[in-house]
Amino acid sequence: VRVPPPQNEPVLSHAPGTPERAELQATLKRMASEQIDIPIVIGGKRIKSGKTDTVRMPHRHSHVLATVHEADASHVEQAIQAALAAKDEWARMPFVERAAIFLRAAELLATKYRPILNASTMLGQSKTAHQAEIDAACEAIDFLRFNVHFAERLLSEQPVSSPQMWNMLDYRPLDGFVFAVAPFNFTSIALNLSVAPAIMGNVVLFKPSTTAALSNWYNLELLREAGLPDGVINMLPGDGPTVGNPVMASPHLGGIHFTGSTPTFQGMWRTVGENIARYKQYPRLVGETGGKDFIFVHPSAAEDLEAVATAIVRGGYEYQGQKCSAASRIYVPESLWPKLKPRLQEMIAELRMGDITDFRNFMGAVIDEKSFKRTSSYIELAKQGGEASIVSGGETDRSEGWFVKPTLVQVTNPRHRLMQEEIFAPVVTLYVYPDAKFEETLRECDAGATYALTGAVFARDRKAISTAMNTLRHSAGNFYVNDKPTGAVVGQQPFGGSRASGTNDKAGSMLNLVRWTSPRTIKENF
Ligand code: GLU
Repeated sequence: VRVPPPQNEPVLSHAPGTPERAELQATLKRMASEQIDIPIVIGGKRIKSGKTDTVRMPHRHSHVLATVHEADASHVEQAIQAALAAKDEWARMPFVERAAIFLRAAELLATKYRPILNASTMLGQSKTAHQAEIDAACEAIDFLRFNVHFAERLLSEQPVSSPQMWNMLDYRPLDGFVFAVAPFNFTSIALNLSVAPAIMGNVVLFKPSTTAALSNWYNLELLREAGLPDGVINMLPGDGPTVGNPVMASPHLGGIHFTGSTPTFQGMWRTVGENIARYKQYPRLVGETGGKDFIFVHPSAAEDLEAVATAIVRGGYEYQGQKCSAASRIYVPESLWPKLKPRLQEMIAELRMGDITDFRNFMGAVIDEKSFKRTSSYIELAKQGGEASIVSGGETDRSEGWFVKPTLVQVTNPRHRLMQEEIFAPVVTLYVYPDAKFEETLRECDAGATYALTGAVFARDRKAISTAMNTLRHSAGNFYVNDKPTGAVVGQQPFGGSRASGTNDKAGSMLNLVRWTSPRTIKENF
């Protein structure tokens, strides 16, 4: 059976009067009025540890949406046993049968589960309807369908044989289980971290981010309804080290599929290093981590200033800047700044922020108090003056939700901390360079941050585009010319970066799936 090449799932508008809007609003209302209890899931069993944490609305932090039961070392041990028990049957299931489960999940998500995943992502992670739709619905559906398609292509890749001799690659899953560790910011990524290894026949221990546990729980319900056998994906919510350390001490650790912060991934890498002699195999370490993503404007973009301003505003402030891909350091030539500055100030002043159930709002709140405090301290740093000054925003309000106004800071030193450190919030830093120093500033952009996830160049001049492409060759894994650096689409712009931004194993592509197989070469003489 060949899986037809998928199309990207169309984005629903949720415009007033559409049926999807009415359905989403009804779901939001219901979810906000209930308080569910999210269990640990091991071998299909729902376990309540009694040690709980709460999931709150970031934009109304007094509102508890759910309680989450946290796992400890004993749950980890049970989950490893359950995963290993499910492993053989899952790995031996014909690929088309595994594929059917994920294709059915995509269909269920496109229909029945769409408002559920959108509403839980909006309420729990403070995404607007549009930001939820492109993540929890469209990108998640795309991951499911495209991974099936890419897996099928990968499996058909076979060596040369002859009439007397048959050579084949047996695409075995890894010998053990995969540990999937998810961030709060993308419901689709949380799904894909388990699904990509599972499509290749692996069993998974999945640790969601507690702040995103509501949407992540519904993803698991979706997979169960689609027919995923018990024990293939086991969910262990809880504290990072409490769950992670016993998982990474297991001899059966086959790989880690991680999206989250650079320090966390580096810590996991160290733990794996310390345990290296215990494992039955070298674990595959696949991580997508932080970013300090740039927009670099060339003087020849003078006629496209509206597009530049839109890219800065959308790239920097959509989902409150909490995308690894968010535009956060901007380089603008002196000749364009006098016109660009008032336009940016005007656009930023028009951005509406507040409760995301009010569909007119463009932004919600940052995820939690920790993020709010960290962001506030960066804004304080900008207010101290010296090499930094606030161009727009700078206000925060924690009374009802974790609100940070979209903030634009100008710095006179391109190595200012605000140009180098990932803030993960709606704070964008901008440096104005002399037009004559275009190439020198490109080199500064390359050397200025340790990250290399995404980046964008705005220019009409073909030679400038080419110079930027070459100078910034290793500065971004996703490079955009005349577009914002966010919003990669599965199957169109395989996503991932290098340097401190990760192992660049492009999510949603065959390159990622390759990491979840340990092929056996078989030669048979006839
Ligand atoms: N894939 C997302 C984008 O292109 C970003 C993913 C992330 O934040 O990890 O905007």
